[in-house]
Amino acid sequence: MAKIDMVAGKLSVPNTPEIPYIKGDGVGIDITPAMIEIVDAAVAKSYAGEKKIIWQELLAGEAAFAETGDYLPEATLEALTAHLIAIKGPLMTPIGGGFRSLNVTLRQKFDLFANVRPVTYFPGVASPVKHPENVNMTIFRENTEDIYAGIEFESESADATRLIEILKSDFGINKIRFDKTSAIGIKPVSPDGSKRLVRAAFEHAIAHGNQRVTLVHKGNIMKFTEGGFKKWGYEVAKDYPTFTVNDFNAIKADKGLEAAKTAKVQALADGKIYVDDAIADNFLQQILLNPSDYQVVATLNLNGDYISDALAAQVGGIGISPGANINFITGHAIFEATHGTAPDIAGLGLANPSSLILSSVMMLEFLGWNGAAKAIESALAAAVSDAQTTKDLGGTLTTADFTQAVIERL
Ligand code: NAD
Repeated sequence: MAKIDMVAGKLSVPNTPEIPYIKGDGVGIDITPAMIEIVDAAVAKSYAGEKKIIWQELLAGEAAFAETGDYLPEATLEALTAHLIAIKGPLMTPIGGGFRSLNVTLRQKFDLFANVRPVTYFPGVASPVKHPENVNMTIFRENTEDIYAGIEFESESADATRLIEILKSDFGINKIRFDKTSAIGIKPVSPDGSKRLVRAAFEHAIAHGNQRVTLVHKGNIMKFTEGGFKKWGYEVAKDYPTFTVNDFNAIKADKGLEAAKTAKVQALADGKIYVDDAIADNFLQQILLNPSDYQVVATLNLNGDYISDALAAQVGGIGISPGANINFITGHAIFEATHGTAPDIAGLGLANPSSLILSSVMMLEFLGWNGAAKAIESALAAAVSDAQTTKDLGGTLTTADFTQAVIERL
């Protein structure tokens, strides 16, 4: 057994890596053992015993509080620091006492700047749209900036009042409609933060053979923040083999529409990535009307929050959508179920473990263990298409029975 390491900007993965896991609160106790059982079976089968994960349980959330009096013990943070990669079930957000969400704390502590959410349809899952199979996208949501940075001042607080005064006196801002009572939020968006996120999206597109990257923003309204994201995104595109919508428009203006279309076809035939951008509100319409047009999406924090849940709903709900928070530069990554702790069904053996199982697929891909990743994804798809599912997907299986249904199909 050995630790996963980052060597010269590349992940170095031994055959028997130690990987920490956090069981999670609520349904975590149902879904995490299911995920581990499936991953172990798939790895054993795919690599004939040559590879094996050495799981290391870490405490966080309610279990940690019960044992140590701390929701996120130092020992857990140290192990996450040392091991780079981890997988976790959902953690409840402690209410009151000034606690921050444990998930947010982990994202900040390890600067996990990309929230990666692949969204695909599994035949057999009920969907509210006619052709959910046309959805096959990966969202790269910026995870550290934007209005989500948590810089907010309460309505009529001394800080908000002072800030409004400074905006008026020092910046000549006289357009705050209710300047006596407005709460104020600050939206930091930087070229550093935007570019590292967009770069991760391009690297993903290249690794997966995707030929379209779309930058989603509200730059028409917020010119320097959201518009900045778009501008910096196109700057990053220049570092990759790309053909942008700007290239297309330049050829169109110079030589006409047909010449631009021909150049685009040629660029794609040459293996280049087509890069365009979309305004967030229009994009939410486009993913319903023409989802097959989009492959990799890079966007800011708040837009990404809306888009990933809208897309997850389109393919049948967040119960099956996986996610990961990754720093592609340091190699730190936490793979997780995207749903919450589901306290109403926790411990009853009824929870659907698919979100966490598909997160483990993302983790195995991140390790470069693509054989095991593909095996799990196909087995899960086969179980769902055979109507061997848990109650939330219309079936009758318990978590344990569903786990066996997946393992039988590996
Ligand atoms: P939730 O996702 O826990 O539950 C919403 C509904 O979906 C419930 O009816 C639940 O039974 C169902 N559900 C969720 N996961 C399911 C699964 N795997 N199988 C079958 N049904 C499932 O959302 P909530 O009730 O708003 O949140 C509960 C707690 O979870 C809160 O403390 C919240 O802060 C936390 N939370 C954590 C995360 C995370 O750790 N990533 C994400 C969201 C919410």
